[in-house]
Amino acid sequence: MPLRAVVGHRRLLALLARSIERGSLPPSLVFAGPSGVGKRTVAIAAAQLLNCTNRTGGAPDIDACGECAACTRIARGVHADVITVQPGDSGSIKIEQVREVIDRAAYRPFEGRFRVVVIDNAEALVPAAQNALLKTLEEPPSSSIFILVTSQPDLLLPTVLSRCPRLRFGALGDDDLVALLVGRGRPEHEARAVAAAADGSVQRALEAIAGDLVGGREVATQVLLNAASTAEPPRRIEFAKALLAGTGSGGAADREQLAVYLRAMASLLRDASLRSVDAEDRALANPDLRSTVDRLAQTYRGERGTRAFTAVDQALAALDRNAGVKIVADWVVLQL
Ligand SMILES: [Zn+2]
Repeated sequence: MPLRAVVGHRRLLALLARSIERGSLPPSLVFAGPSGVGKRTVAIAAAQLLNCTNRTGGAPDIDACGECAACTRIARGVHADVITVQPGDSGSIKIEQVREVIDRAAYRPFEGRFRVVVIDNAEALVPAAQNALLKTLEEPPSSSIFILVTSQPDLLLPTVLSRCPRLRFGALGDDDLVALLVGRGRPEHEARAVAAAADGSVQRALEAIAGDLVGGREVATQVLLNAASTAEPPRRIEFAKALLAGTGSGGAADREQLAVYLRAMASLLRDASLRSVDAEDRALANPDLRSTVDRLAQTYRGERGTRAFTAVDQALAALDRNAGVKIVADWVVLQL
């Protein structure tokens, strides 16, 4: 897709377009930032702009047309000069994969103006593969651009990082995600709720609309209402079982499932505290659940609301540090 169709990252995209227009784009780059925010999409969009035969707009709004043969072939992943390297079944990017692209990059572009090599999940490059890349990153063949896309740049060798200027992608704003979801046909109120729970990640927002969110909010609501009804620890612990629904496959999948419920709880608690000071519907992340939010606001307001929100936030942080799901679920219901 052309740059104009990318969600968010406006300043970074403007910088990219300007340097492509001026011919000053560094030949080796790292695109770093959280997963799911569109780094690879931007790398492909840059490849289109570099090779588009019918660019639109003048500086500073130059962009690919999205329709010429080069643009469409790049979008379909069949352009001879735009190469994407990804981890294989082993989960790593092997030295053979890197040698192959280095060999191909030594020739002039076949059909376009620039050869663009996108190394996706670059943190998966084995050290030998990174070392094999060094010389190429330092002195790339003319007309070749290497883009290393990664959410964990610190796993790359310092020697690699030092050769590649880094473009830092931030998390997306809620408004960016809402625009994306509305553009995909979701009603605005639902898009707002999904965006609030997605923590700035397009990937997470799209997963949420695939089904998690609705069930997540139901479980979150029930647990919050139950916790409001009693302070007795044994009964609270009983309620925590709802938070473990859907877990059992172990490890990261369990933690992600619990995190879905916790993010929904955080979003509802935030809304409850807003409603307790009579905020308007449009300030809410879950305006479609307003009556539920109002019920929650009877308990979770003021100091109690802050305490509950902080506890949920700490529980999410504990999951990030790989804490066990049962411990986290039990702990959080006792703090609400
Ligand atoms: Zn084009």
